[in-house]
Amino acid sequence: MNFASDNVGGVSPEILAAIAAANAGPATPYGADTITQRLENLFADIFEHEVAVFPVATGTAANALALAGLTPPWGAIYCHEDSHIATDECGAPEFFSAGAKLVTLPGAHGKLAPVTIAERLAGAGIVHHVQPAALSITQETEAGTLYTADEVAALGALAREHRLGFHMDGARFANAVAGLGCSPAAITWRAGVDVLSFGATKNGAMAAEAVVFFDRARAAEFGFRRKRAGHLLSKMRFLSAQLESYLAGELWLRNARHANAMAARLAAGLAAVPGTSLVHPVEGNEVFVSLSVSMIAGLAADGFGFYRWGEEPVLRLVASFDTLPASVDAFIASARRHAAVSHNG
Ligand SMILES: *Cc1c(COP(=O)(O)O)cnc(C)c1O
Repeated sequence: MNFASDNVGGVSPEILAAIAAANAGPATPYGADTITQRLENLFADIFEHEVAVFPVATGTAANALALAGLTPPWGAIYCHEDSHIATDECGAPEFFSAGAKLVTLPGAHGKLAPVTIAERLAGAGIVHHVQPAALSITQETEAGTLYTADEVAALGALAREHRLGFHMDGARFANAVAGLGCSPAAITWRAGVDVLSFGATKNGAMAAEAVVFFDRARAAEFGFRRKRAGHLLSKMRFLSAQLESYLAGELWLRNARHANAMAARLAAGLAAVPGTSLVHPVEGNEVFVSLSVSMIAGLAADGFGFYRWGEEPVLRLVASFDTLPASVDAFIASARRHAAVSHNG
């Protein structure tokens, strides 16, 4: 009944079991254990490319540390104005990059267009200006939408042309791959992405994300950044076990397909409720719906959890791997009931 976020969900039983299995006896610390050592091959198979993989405990750490490696302290990082790095990380990207500037840009439905970035790339070589250094996009976006492979590739071409490092915040990367039905490669290195924050926590892990480099040379300094930031876990095997079981047998995609299907069910149900309208296309596991203030009050009174999004009466509803169809249907029924009440009154 709680649609506030996908991290209201629990942990996939498979992942809990993997943590328990990793608890069978001693293991070498700081990532020199056998589970962590297996991770790079696993990721390389999934991405069809050589990779360097660094597990960290939070998405904020993944983003901030990945970006820090793409920019000098006097660099500019171009990103969407609603991006998590700009709005929800308490300045971590600026802090870990020793002061790089986030240049926030508008874009419909959470997505950046190449032209918007191109217009802001002035200043290269001028000592008074921050220097264009990196581009960061979110996939699935903060509006619940998806960049197609072609859209990512167009941004990748722009990044290459202007020598910008290209970062992808993939806190909901699984939902994007499941929603697009594409290969992980198609929306990452094949489209020019240099570094991916590969999320797992929101889609069934307990606390595990991975920074994935598609060019091992770019990863040379990352180990130092991670240690300095306090994200080199001494019992790394428990973090790596989560990632290994998350990827094994396509658990990550099964979980994401379920979450996306629940969001689609929610969107379809709400579309038939008078007085509601979708604010963004529903392409992953998030639904943004505009409805009346009295409907919001009624849904809250019925015990549903959600966030109000912005100043307008808009809700963000997020489905996760363990969202029950019955919860979705109950939400729709409640919305319909309160819509009828608003109409009569
Ligand atoms: C949740 C989220 C993150 C990671 O957040 P943490 O709380 O630091 O794990 C990063 N990016 C986006 C878009 C997110 O939604």
